[in-house]
Amino acid sequence: MIRLDSIVKRYGQDINDPLAVDNVTIEFDYGKLYAIVGKSGSGKTTLLNIIAGLLSPTSGYIYLDGVDISNYNEKEKAAYRNKKIGYVFQSFYLEPKMSVLDNVCLPMIIAGEKKNVREEKAKVILEQLGLLEYLGKKVSKMSGGEQQRVAIARALINDASIILADEPTGNLDTQNGLAVMEEIKRLSNAGKLVILVTHNLEHAHKYADVILELSDGKIIREEINENY
Ligand code: ADP
Ligand code: MG
Repeated sequence: MIRLDSIVKRYGQDINDPLAVDNVTIEFDYGKLYAIVGKSGSGKTTLLNIIAGLLSPTSGYIYLDGVDISNYNEKEKAAYRNKKIGYVFQSFYLEPKMSVLDNVCLPMIIAGEKKNVREEKAKVILEQLGLLEYLGKKVSKMSGGEQQRVAIARALINDASIILADEPTGNLDTQNGLAVMEEIKRLSNAGKLVILVTHNLEHAHKYADVILELSDGKIIREEINENY
């Protein structure tokens, strides 16, 4: 479980600069899919980056499974990201010249895993995502939907229990967007804690357990989705 307690983020140094995240207190549980919605500039990416340990809050506390991780140093944060967090971005951030297999293996290289272990594990995950046949293919030769599935595979390879996705369907057509959403839903059904930032209210209502609306860095609405 992740708990944010009174999280504030101000990018500027001046006390009068606006708050990108304004006193957010909330809990996220394993096995649930949270959709964060809100206008552009409302603080969605900032909040996600704080949860990922990519950005330090100006003030406030972050607890992971009851442990205060707010004061982790850079090395501890890097380890936290590598072990616990899988991050999926709108523009995939894959290595275009590398194969599907090598892209998916990258986080395990960073984690110091042996080559044969890496490749075996990557194959299992690629199979789950229906990508086994593309193993040796360069990602630049794949469609957007396929590339995003490769990015999901990469986010899963280190057994992350927390999946953060920032507008993962933003660059996809309707059909590929739905396919990616189905994969994301499967992850929360399998027990992972999933936080999805999306502009797509249809996706939010169809897939999320909880919908959070941000405005000017504040959570202005928390909707428990009763659709299922
Ligand atoms: P969203 O993802 O909802 O579009 P962001 O988290 O990107 O919102 O941005 C929230 C606010 O913080 C915006 O006003 C934005 O201009 C500002 N902001 C985001 N990133 C930076 C940055 N690196 N430096 C300064 N201001 C930033
Ligand atoms: Mg954003």
